Amino acid sequence: MLIVQKYGGTSMGDCQRIQNVAERIIQTKEQKNCALVVVVSAMSGETDRLLEYAHFFSTLPESRELDMALSAGERITSALLAIALNAKGIKAISLSGRGAGIITESTHTKARIKYIQTQHIEELIKKGYVVVVAGFQGVDENGEVTTLGRGGSDLSAVALAGALKADKCEIYSDVDGIYTTDPRIESKAKKIEKISYDEMLELASMGAKVLLNRSVELAKKLNVKLVSKSSFSQNEGTLITNEEDIMEKPIVSGVALDKNQARVSIADVLDRPGIAAEIFGILAQSNINVDMIVQTIGRDGKTDIDFTIPQTEVELAKKVLERFKNDVESIEYDCDIAKVSIVGVGMKSHTGVASAAFNALAKDNINIMMIGTSEIKISMIVNIKYAELAVRTLHDVYHLDK
Ligand code: ADP
Ligand code: ASP
Ligand code: MG
Repeated sequence: MLIVQKYGGTSMGDCQRIQNVAERIIQTKEQKNCALVVVVSAMSGETDRLLEYAHFFSTLPESRELDMALSAGERITSALLAIALNAKGIKAISLSGRGAGIITESTHTKARIKYIQTQHIEELIKKGYVVVVAGFQGVDENGEVTTLGRGGSDLSAVALAGALKADKCEIYSDVDGIYTTDPRIESKAKKIEKISYDEMLELASMGAKVLLNRSVELAKKLNVKLVSKSSFSQNEGTLITNEEDIMEKPIVSGVALDKNQARVSIADVLDRPGIAAEIFGILAQSNINVDMIVQTIGRDGKTDIDFTIPQTEVELAKKVLERFKNDVESIEYDCDIAKVSIVGVGMKSHTGVASAAFNALAKDNINIMMIGTSEIKISMIVNIKYAELAVRTLHDVYHLDK
């Protein structure tokens, strides 16, 4: 049996915690008599600290150089964990993304994994090593170091679990599973026993950072058995699985909040064919993720286009949209917004879910600036001041604490 475990930043937060992880790994080996590949994150706060250093010198550091700097955090913790395990008499070896054979595209700071050359890891497993892999990184086909995007260690773990055909992939963080909403925002949030890949994917994409959305997407594609657990308790976690394996399907499963959002408002754009293609084409070329888009009905040959992007990409967006400044009246950026979303597979077959949300927010006097929907999700942009209140209100409306 092969298990892939991933320990996040809080779990690897200091030497004592790394020691604790080492002990858990030894326990798993003894109890399950299994082979283990362990993916680790940098110590919590480390990636932000490295980013801050880079921004000391430049508002837009070269993404290649960022990858060289940011990937170091995970290399440190992987080596420390291997040292801790070896000191306890367990054969362990650490590998960087390159060592683990993780080959990615060349898009620095958000590279996609192309494939994994597993021979080396497989040999090490056969020799009885616990293989500790630095998460969040790989190399492109030219050997350049890349990183996978924030929260990317989850993706490293799932990709390795898929490539190595592991029996399961356990993601350890500071919560003991997936809750109906972030328990830091709503203490009445309840742990979910099982959740479908699709719902988890929407929750994660809408801001529930307990799992990286791309890792859930990949787990579904590769049929990886994914479990979310805490490294600080022995509690049962949450299983993320196929919808068919879940008996009871709630109308709304959870509420997510994303504060890393900014609204871009472009006023009086020339209303002609191709303008949207130009604006969003340029943004796509710069790898800026556009989410909700609202275009108003044109008047006098002009139209307004509003859309949201991650707040972390505002500087880059300002730079690339500069070229449109003569074609539009104004381009404004509002970072004081947040996206609140409700997610549930039951929405497919129930009506009135959206109106209940809108009514509840109206009662609290919370203005909804933009709305977006999918088959199993409703997202609303609100002022950041009301973000957490909106989460609690929606959690309450759908009785998620029951
Ligand atoms: P790690 O650093 O281990 O990768 P993260 O901080 O990325 O862990 O993710 C864990 C955090 O996710 C929790 O502390 C919690 O605040 C947050 N979170 C957000 N939404 C949820 C949810 N629905 N269920 C559980 N945790 C959630
Ligand atoms: N250390 C990286 C981050 O903070 C990757 C991860 O933790 O998954 O985003
Ligand atoms: Mg994380």
